[in-house]
Amino acid sequence: MALIVLNPATEEPIAQLEQAGVEETDAAIARATAAFPAWRAVSPDDRGRLLRRLATLVEEHTEELAQIESRNVGKPISGARWEVGMVARVFHFYAGAVDKHYGDTIPVAGGVAATFREPLGVVGLIVPWNFPLNITSWKLGPALACGNTVVLKPAELTPLSALRLGELCLEAGIPEGVVNVLVGKGSIVGQRLVEHPDVAKIGFTGSTEVGQQVMRGAAGTIKRVTLELGGKSANVVFADADLEKAAASAPYAVFDNAGQDCCARSRILVERSVYDRFLEQLIDATRGVKVGDPADPNTEMGPLISAAHRTTVASFLEGANVAFTGDAPAGRGFWFPCTLVEASNDDRVAREEVFGPVAAVIPFEDEAEAIRLANDTPFGLSGSIWTRDGARALRVARALETGVLSVNSNSSVRVSTPFGGFKQSGFGRELGMHALEGYSETKSVFISTEG
Ligand code: NDP
Repeated sequence: MALIVLNPATEEPIAQLEQAGVEETDAAIARATAAFPAWRAVSPDDRGRLLRRLATLVEEHTEELAQIESRNVGKPISGARWEVGMVARVFHFYAGAVDKHYGDTIPVAGGVAATFREPLGVVGLIVPWNFPLNITSWKLGPALACGNTVVLKPAELTPLSALRLGELCLEAGIPEGVVNVLVGKGSIVGQRLVEHPDVAKIGFTGSTEVGQQVMRGAAGTIKRVTLELGGKSANVVFADADLEKAAASAPYAVFDNAGQDCCARSRILVERSVYDRFLEQLIDATRGVKVGDPADPNTEMGPLISAAHRTTVASFLEGANVAFTGDAPAGRGFWFPCTLVEASNDDRVAREEVFGPVAAVIPFEDEAEAIRLANDTPFGLSGSIWTRDGARALRVARALETGVLSVNSNSSVRVSTPFGGFKQSGFGRELGMHALEGYSETKSVFISTEG
């Protein structure tokens, strides 16, 4: 059955694609398997050069890729341009990393042991719809740098940028069969990748539920998995913080990408003594978020991804104590307004990932309670701490059970720093040199020096 791809801002179809099934998935895995021996044998210099060419091509096609991403995901065009810029920087980083990821020599009795970083083989990359191109690059960059070949499955809702990237890989000179992009259902193509004996690893980003299925499915072949799953991160604001700055930054931290961000700081924990003042400032800042046409360079928030997802997001407001609702366009498009809810950490809106523009604002009494509430969640992906007390910042940072933290800032992601979760937010690290660990095996070779 053909797949109709929609623009979520207009509900209009923007593409119609053939979907792969099990047979096409097996064929893609076979192509990747056949391409592996030659690709792993490409010298580090040449592999780096090909990745560098890909990075340059992404830069040269920034506007085209940003337009695709903006129309397919409903992302504001200015944000989409920034994301494509990051994709290029990710490929540049891994182009430079190819010849810097090597083993050790270890003196041992009777000789020397050397370690080598070996590629895994064919890796399956399964990507969600919220940051299609960005999350693809976080996996594809290190996978190719380590000498693996790839079968890439974008989300059904947002396959367009991955298909264009596949073409750019060929244009860059990456040989046929090294990168294979498959459009198809997660329950068919994704599951087949997870279970296929010739796939050595799955790099997955998505929901915790599907992450559990991936783990179970991968067990049959002892496949390696990297899981980047949901989050319910805390933005902890102490009374001694620069409140104005914290309040001005908080909407970006949860309404960016219409809240469809695993790093969203969707629990805003505020010290009781400044709670009322902070809430007022937060409402003012949220009122200023420009929601509307993603093609307008001034727009800061677009629509949600689908009608079904909008229904799910709306369900979190049943019985909620809503403190503020922003404006959103009427008419066609899956619009949802920025919403602030006063909540307790036990409410559903504070426990489950909404994945929409809804923030729960929660008071706390002191540092100990702030830490307890921030950690009282099954997730552990990101978070922020706002305080002018440096010792407290470090103390709380060490106490929080989360993979990525920022102090007096709400930004999570940098090309060179590791990204990934604690607890049910998953395991394994993306980005930086750390990601190379997940796409290679360590081989230890002993060389006898005895005569
Ligand atoms: P899913 O986990 O359903 O999808 C993520 C990817 O997995 C998609 O490519 C999907 O394909 C694929 N997939 C689905 N089922 C299987 C399967 N059985 N085996 C292998 N792959 C599969 O997330 P959604 O995109 O539907 O989003 C649902 C929720 O997940 C969100 O509301 C949010 O809570 C969370 N999420 C978290 C993200 C994060 O960045 N951590 C990103 C996206 C979502 P297909 O699209 O074809 O179904």
